[in-house]
Amino acid sequence: MAITILCIDDSKVSRTFIKRGLSDILQGADLQIEEASNARDALELCSRKRYDLVTLDLTMPDMSGYEFLEELRERSITQSIVVLTADIQPLAEQKVMELGATGYLEKPFDKEPMMTMLKQIGIL
Ligand SMILES: [Mg+2]
Repeated sequence: MAITILCIDDSKVSRTFIKRGLSDILQGADLQIEEASNARDALELCSRKRYDLVTLDLTMPDMSGYEFLEELRERSITQSIVVLTADIQPLAEQKVMELGATGYLEKPFDKEPMMTMLKQIGIL
């Protein structure tokens, strides 16, 4: 069975790095990585299927990562979401965890903390 991942980030460069980093950690696995450049498209994708992992950027135009999490909660959609942000703040971490995120990591992420996260989610 393929591991399905959705990478949400408005930066194409970030999405490429995230995909590369995850492919590196999960090498050998059958990965199906989808991308969304904005939270509205991601919402649509997340309402259709449950991914094994969703990575979420916080700072995006139109709809932020916070609003995305709120919207998922509103619609009772459950996903394993790891927030990836360049701007690490204790309050932000608390907030996204309260909004239902599974984890919160600095972007670009280091291998070790991401591996710990993937083990916690159950895909490593
Ligand atoms: Mg961004």
